[in-house]
Order: sequence, then structure tokens, then C-alpha cells
Amino acid sequence: MIAENRRMVVAGNWKMNLGVEETRSYAKTLIELASRKKELKHALFAGDLELILFPPGISIYIAYTELKSTSVAIGAQNVHWEPKGAYTGEISVPMIVEAGCRYALVGHSERRHVFGETIDMTSKKLAACIEGGVTPMLCIGETETERKQGLTEKVLFEQFKGAFGNKIVPTGNIYIAYEPVWAIGTGNTATPDDAESACRFVREKIAERFDAETSHKARILYGGSVNPENAEELLSQNNVDGVLVGGASLKPDAFLSIASSAIR
Ligand code: PEP
Repeated sequence: MIAENRRMVVAGNWKMNLGVEETRSYAKTLIELASRKKELKHALFAGDLELILFPPGISIYIAYTELKSTSVAIGAQNVHWEPKGAYTGEISVPMIVEAGCRYALVGHSERRHVFGETIDMTSKKLAACIEGGVTPMLCIGETETERKQGLTEKVLFEQFKGAFGNKIVPTGNIYIAYEPVWAIGTGNTATPDDAESACRFVREKIAERFDAETSHKARILYGGSVNPENAEELLSQNNVDGVLVGGASLKPDAFLSIASSAIR
């Protein structure tokens, strides 16, 4: 596997944190802190890394405007599959595009387990993103019980295959975040070996469903209690092309410290 062709991705999922003013101040601090270190400044402004932030819906536009001088891309944490209509509380793909998003999370475990999102819904959301010019980052992962029952690969395969269906053809690179549910927000990070073996498995499934080139170019991230201390080892695995970070992305200094671990 030729890892050089894949730019490392460091993404922050803020979940339901950081409103408009907090986002403005986060963005200013991020730029200020990154500007103090040559490598980070390069990563932030020249795009050596793929940095993506997923703010809550209300903060997307301010994040976009405050960070538009940088290479940081903005994404939505969730979208609805219809472009508009009577879907109270939802946001559509054309809306997030207008607000500055280039990415969207699809199938985050909190959407699946707290809000009852089904595999069929993830598939519709994925299709709507691709059709609307947004890159979906599909989140997949097993629960603790499933892991104990030896079902990890089965679950990953079902969530991947179900989301991509038979008809979906990605227009750009595929982004998948392997996020074991038991590791999210718990402090129980997967071992680098476990993260690597799950990410390798996902890459093999992409090759089977699409082709070797698509699989080689796919960005497969690990997510689940990533922090400045454990990021480097996780990111040094062959098939781990980046990290999706929740809690530790809420502070610009911690997010940048994780980003530093991804600079090669
Ligand atoms: C997440 O929400 O995608 C996540 C990985 O959270 P945390 O880093 O807090 O475990």
C-alpha cells in the first residue's frame, strides 16, 4: 500500500458544542496558535494535511467565514436526504453547501444509536451528499457486545455495504471513519493494531465493492477517544489515513497537537 498518495486527514466532530461566538473565538485561536509554528502554519494554510471541522449546524457558517483564509474545510454533522420540505429540525445538502460545507458526517454512531438512524437512512443521506456535491464521511463501527461476540467485521461490512447499496457510485475519494461505539467518548481507545486491522478490512471491502484504485485512494480514519497522547501511534498505522476526533477537538491547542502528529 503506497501511503504517500493519501494526504492525512485530521477531523474534529464538535457534536452539540460550541455556539456562534465560541466558534468565532475557536477559529481565531486556531489561526493564531498555528501561525506560531512553521509546520502547523504550513498545514493550516498550504493544506499539507486535510483538516476538517464539523461544527453544530448553527455554527457552520461562522466557522466557514472565519476559516476561509485557511485550508480548513467545514462539514456538517448530519443532513437530510431531501433538498427541502416539511422536515422540521432538519438541514438539507443544498443548505449546508450554501453555508460553506464540503463534507458531511453520515451514520455517526450517536445518530444510529441515540436517534435510531437506520442503514437505509445512511444510504439515502450518502446518495444525497454525492448528488449535491458534498463528500460524505461514512461512520461505521461495532458496539461492545458485538465486539465480544466476534461480530466486528460482520457489522462493519453490513454498515458499509448497506450505506453504499448497489447503485451508489462515489464521485470523489471515499471517506470512511471506523469508530467503534465502545471507544467513543469513553477514554477506551482501540489499540493501534485493532484500528489497523479494522481499517485494512474496510479497505479490502472497498476494493471488492469498487476497484483497487478506489480502495487505494479511499481515506479511512480511526475515531474513538483520540487525544494528543495516542494520536501519533494510531496515525502511524499503514491503513489509518487520519483521525476523527470528538472531545479533544473542542480545544484548538489539543486539535493542533493531534494535527502535528499527522505531519509527515
Ligand atoms: C466522535 O464523536 O466521532 C468521537 C470520536 O468522539 P471522541 O473522540 O470524544 O471519542
